[in-house]
Order: sequence, then structure tokens, then C-alpha cells
Amino acid sequence: MCRTLPEASWLALDPRSGAATDCQVLSTLRVGPMLIEFNVPVDLTLLAKQNPEVKVGGRYAPKDCISPHKVAIIIPFRNRQEHLKYWLYYLHPILQRQQLDYGIYVINQAGESTFNRAKLLNVGFQEALKDYDYNCFVFSDVDLIPMDDRNTYRCFSQPRHISVAMDKFGFSLPYVQFFGGVSALSKQQFLTINGFPNNYWGWGGEDDDIFNRLVFKGMSISRPNAVVGKCRMIRHSRDKKNEPNPQRFDRIAHTKETMLSDGLNTLTYKVLDIERNPLYTKITVDVGTPS
Ligand code: BGC
Repeated sequence: MCRTLPEASWLALDPRSGAATDCQVLSTLRVGPMLIEFNVPVDLTLLAKQNPEVKVGGRYAPKDCISPHKVAIIIPFRNRQEHLKYWLYYLHPILQRQQLDYGIYVINQAGESTFNRAKLLNVGFQEALKDYDYNCFVFSDVDLIPMDDRNTYRCFSQPRHISVAMDKFGFSLPYVQFFGGVSALSKQQFLTINGFPNNYWGWGGEDDDIFNRLVFKGMSISRPNAVVGKCRMIRHSRDKKNEPNPQRFDRIAHTKETMLSDGLNTLTYKVLDIERNPLYTKITVDVGTPS
């Protein structure tokens, strides 16, 4: 009897050698707009069973074709397990449909000191590279879910802003320089700007500093349109120890002078624990306290 493979698999095989070839530029598995809601509890054991191709630590690569997009997804984290469950529930199927070669890294800030989002993202970059030769880094808040899987979590020739139409901001950008929420930088783009700042403690400003760094290095921002770029945020009250940072305005005004002396080249931290869970890798890290 003649066995038929799904169309995407046929397309991905070299007709002569039968070996896997590059995945299609636009995956045919994508479905477009999706309904996103946060009212049913997520069971992670069940979710792992529903995603059998995801390997321990939250690693996945398409079986039938070779993805050029080796993406580490970095999530800064503290005490948001319920949000993380929704993130994993929605994103694993989406990322697989996007045919990415990816890994999920939850970077958990240890202790009680003020939260430092950008420093956690720097840690994620450095730690993920110890696992695999990632060429792209998607930095995502734990509470943001895309509403359309054509919004690909990969890198582009210019830094990519992914969460361009958040429900919180009426499905549009709050201001043109906005680079917060979810963004993607290639390894080279990230290295060119010396990574992210380490000294933004508390809420706000670090994403504006990153935007400034990119512009000062001559890059521009690539974005999906406001339909494909729609996303939902899980509503929550502000976390303790993540109050608005009063120094942020002053710091943003000086990115040009500080970016070479504050970033990957001055990053210090201590890894306290690495957990390889079925759907994600959780790295608990001591990032210090504000000086
Ligand atoms: C803050 C950013 C934040 C944005 C949207 C700005 O004032 O500096 O960090 O992402 O507001 O909330």
C-alpha cells in the first residue's frame, strides 16, 4: 500500500537523496488568528503529553525539515507560575507550527531584591548559548500571548518588535519608539549593542534604553502589521519589588554614553539552580542588588 506523507513533509525532502532540506520560509502549518483566553486552568503534565515532540528543557526542532531559525526564547521571571502555564500552553503549539528550532529559558530572579528585567535577559542570552548554537533570541514577558501565529518568533535582518498591538494599549503602539513586551534580536544584533543594560532596577525604561542602543548602532526596527501583531496580556496587579524606577528617565537620556560600559561586558551573576523541566528550562540566578 502506498503511504502518503503530509504535504509539508513532501516539500521538505530532497527528491534525490530523500534527506531533509530547509523548512519553507513561511510555514504552511500556521492557522492565522487564534482565540486566546485565560479562564481554564492549565495542567502541565497533560500539556507535556499533548506536545510529545517537545524534548526535555523545552527543546524542539522540526522532524521533516531543517529550520535556519535556532531560537532561544528568554523569559524574565519571578513568582508568576500561573502566567507561565498559559504561556507554555499557547506558545508551544504556535512555535512548532512556525517550524522553529527552539528552546525555552525561564530566567528566575532569586531573592527579594528589586526586579531587574534587562539583566535577566542578558543572563538568558549567555546561559542559552552554553546549551546550543542559537542564532536568534526572542525576549518575552511571561504574560504576553500572540493572537495570530503568522507573527513569527524569529529574527530578521533588523531587530524585530513582536508585540506591536497589545490589547492593553488598544491594539496599537503606545508610542513609536516602544520596544517592550516581546522582541527578537539575532546573536549579532545583540552583540553589536553590548547586550542590554544591567542597571535598570524596577519597572520601566530598560526597553527604551534597548531601543536607543539599536538606533545609536544604526539599526532600525522591523515590525509585523497591527493585525498580525495583535496580542493579549494577562491582567495582574503590579508585582511587589517591581515599582516604577524613578531613575529611568535620567538613564534613558544617557544611553549613548553608558551603553559601552554597561551591558554584556560588565554582566556578573551567579547561577543557583538549573531545572530541566519537560516544557522549559528554569535557571534561578542571583543578579545582586541595586548599587
Ligand atoms: C516605560 C517602558 C514601558 C512603556 C509602556 C514607558 O514609559 O519607560 O518601559 O514599556 O512605558 O508601558
